[in-house]
Amino acid sequence: MIPTLDIRRLIAEKKYDFDLDFEFEPEEGLVEIPYVELVPPVKAELHGKIAEDNTVLIRGKVIYCLKGLCSRCLKETSSTVEGEAEGTFVPASRRKEDESYSYVGTIDLREFLRDAVMFSIPNGLYCSETCNTPDYK
Ligand SMILES: [Zn+2]
Repeated sequence: MIPTLDIRRLIAEKKYDFDLDFEFEPEEGLVEIPYVELVPPVKAELHGKIAEDNTVLIRGKVIYCLKGLCSRCLKETSSTVEGEAEGTFVPASRRKEDESYSYVGTIDLREFLRDAVMFSIPNGLYCSETCNTPDYK
């Protein structure tokens, strides 16, 4: 389950630093490598920080397993991926840059997590380091 962050309440309780540790079912269709799929769930280990101006910085990692056929030799294989997750959530009334997320009172992490998983997916799945290196015949 993806938690919803009640920023108003966290501020009221003076919890300006918080840790989040949870698992969630990712959206389908994020992996575009042929014959490879993501084995749910995705694990998220995040740390949040609320700044004085109510900007919320969330950073940490997403961890998941990819399983399928090696992109080079088609042998069955699997690999654990650890991706960086980082995002700045600006109160909607002050949003300027396109790259930051905005929020009103509460933060829904769905889009952020979807981006973190999507950007961390490798170009291919390989059964070993050496299989990733093309050999010239
Ligand atoms: Zn291979």
